[in-house]
Amino acid sequence: MKLADRVHRIQPSPTLVIDAKAKALKAEGIDIIGFGAGEPDFGTPINIREAAKRAIDEGHTRYTPVGGTDELKNAVIDKLQRDNGLTFSRDQISVACGAKHSLYNISQALIQEGDEVIIPAPYWVSYPDQVLLAGGTPVYIQTNEKTSFKITPEQLENAVTPRTKALILNSPSNPTGSAYSKEELQEIGKVCLRHDFIIISDDIYESLLYDGIPFFNIASAVPELLPRTIVVNGVSKTYAMTGWRIGYAAGPKDVIGAITKMQSQSTSNPSSVAQKAAVEALSGPQDAVAMMRGEFEKRRTYIVERLNAVADVSCFRSTGAFYAFPNVSAVYGKSFAGKVIRNSTELAAYFLDEARVAVVPGIAFGADNYIRLSYATSLDNIRTGIDRIEKAVKDLN
Ligand SMILES: *Cc1c(COP(=O)(O)O)cnc(C)c1O
Repeated sequence: MKLADRVHRIQPSPTLVIDAKAKALKAEGIDIIGFGAGEPDFGTPINIREAAKRAIDEGHTRYTPVGGTDELKNAVIDKLQRDNGLTFSRDQISVACGAKHSLYNISQALIQEGDEVIIPAPYWVSYPDQVLLAGGTPVYIQTNEKTSFKITPEQLENAVTPRTKALILNSPSNPTGSAYSKEELQEIGKVCLRHDFIIISDDIYESLLYDGIPFFNIASAVPELLPRTIVVNGVSKTYAMTGWRIGYAAGPKDVIGAITKMQSQSTSNPSSVAQKAAVEALSGPQDAVAMMRGEFEKRRTYIVERLNAVADVSCFRSTGAFYAFPNVSAVYGKSFAGKVIRNSTELAAYFLDEARVAVVPGIAFGADNYIRLSYATSLDNIRTGIDRIEKAVKDLN
């Protein structure tokens, strides 16, 4: 069958592919340690599950308004005010089937042929492909551990052209775990103020920040940028609710109106039951969030230390999200059983076949010198997995 050209512009999400392969091996009874997952290993907190059960029993099982119920929009507005000091009205909020869906809607509503979108690399896998699907051109700013994987104001200035339509910021970052400080955002904000483009702020890892570091997005750091910032967030990562599919965008009325219109011709409203659960997540007790953050922080400290002790591996000390992003390029050129490992894809394949450990090759994030390990898995698994990686690296010559 002849498929539409747009299908060939993009790749299936590589992180979901690795995860599926690891799960398939596991199903065959092979003992795999999975560092591939991009989701918390905790269950959804009990109060949220109870709210969903109540929603079903109370008959919240029909269509809701396309962009979410007023109740959920109000909960989102309260959250943005409380946690971020940002003031929005209901017509500035649109709820979607996950933050990924919000980002997709935004790219479809804003970007067209000839538009450039600046994406700091390493980047989350879906940003470039969503821009490409919309007909736009991704413009990458390369970063590395020397600047803690953060773009500098100079780099941003150099990347801006008359065609720049938007900049995507993701702090804390997937895959690097790096996060911008208020001061750094203010410096970047100065460049943004000199030009006229939209800023898409993906705040999905907001609550997973360690070492006591406070969270800021660019609109809370530089209030003048609020009128052209679209804040994207959701309940997946903060509340261990990846399967519930609730995310949201907050921003200028015209953009929010456009994305809601597009959603009205695609998915309609996100699940009514999941919306009720999200209201409880955002408005109910927050102690489960602190508990999960504490666990992730312990694991972060452990995994970074262990990876740095592996010969030829050096790992940036991340301060957020749940990923370690070690530089493994010193391993490239070495071989196992006569076969040379040349890049992150071949190293990830080697780890899966010989060490029974699933990691995501850095090339998926536009950074071939690295691999990504999710530490959304138990300390026991992390210990066993890194032991295996350590041995597999030693076996190379
Ligand atoms: C997980 C993730 C998302 C998407 O989250 P959903 O709300 O589950 O769609 C968006 N951005 C980044 C950077 C992520 O890691």
